[in-house]
Amino acid sequence: MDVEKLSSMINSLSDLQSRLHNLRNVPPLLLKSSLPFSSLSIRNDFQQLKELADTIRSDPVQEALAAAATSEKADKSDLNRNGRREMRKRRHAHALFVLHLRFQALSRRPPSPPSPQPYIPYDKRGSSLFPPTTDDPPPLRADELANYIREYNRTSSCKLHIWTRIRGATQLSNPVIVRFTIRDVLVCYITMAYTAADPILLTESVTAFGPREKKSPHSQSDFLVYQSLSQQIAKMLQSHPRVSFQSLMNLMTTYEGIFIDRCTSCERVLSAEGHVPPVVRLWMDTTKANEKGQWQPRHASCPQT
Ligand SMILES: [Zn+2]
Repeated sequence: MDVEKLSSMINSLSDLQSRLHNLRNVPPLLLKSSLPFSSLSIRNDFQQLKELADTIRSDPVQEALAAAATSEKADKSDLNRNGRREMRKRRHAHALFVLHLRFQALSRRPPSPPSPQPYIPYDKRGSSLFPPTTDDPPPLRADELANYIREYNRTSSCKLHIWTRIRGATQLSNPVIVRFTIRDVLVCYITMAYTAADPILLTESVTAFGPREKKSPHSQSDFLVYQSLSQQIAKMLQSHPRVSFQSLMNLMTTYEGIFIDRCTSCERVLSAEGHVPPVVRLWMDTTKANEKGQWQPRHASCPQT
């Protein structure tokens, strides 16, 4: 190996080491934090973690790590005599392990079988998984959608847009596809149908993707977390096929915290099995007067009561 290459390898590893050192406290902070996800510093932390992970996965760094491992093997006795250095290495290995867990939740899985809609057994008792709607406004109609979106975008940190295949289309298509975005967290395509006789918008499907996935509304995410989220929402829609768009949006907005909310059953962010964040939202009624119930985050693998 020539000196130039060795020196560039050493440079990229020392750069990695200092970045890792700076970020060492970030994963526990993200897991513990009660700050809202919109907090700028958490966003930056996430961005830095992501960039670091990309760097670690890059070819030059992987090559340098392999070279370092070979060289370490040849040089083991010397390193073992140096206790402090060994400790430092162990700490770095631990930080890497935590990062690895974090990114495993977002890692690519082989595409699942061709059917995009998973089979979900229909619950014969037919109880809706959405909150009761007695004092809600009437369900949204197709002709009210544009105004609703304008008002929603004005008052929410999440964003809605009517998605069209044809640029500049002015007519509302049927079914209409709405793109729902939580910045840096997810993108969902919500497909809704209506008829002239019944202009109420009925949701046919919701498909979730990672914030940077460039995919068509009818495809499927490459990431397990967004696949499970799509399945979970499909199950909820099946429990209440005529749920109003407003009620669906109340649910969707709760996913702002999907990567920081703790499951109310096991109190972990990532599930013990599979390291997936809590994609389930359970509606909990309250017995207190003048108070509404609330959505509770839950892992799909944890008890649903
Ligand atoms: Zn749990």
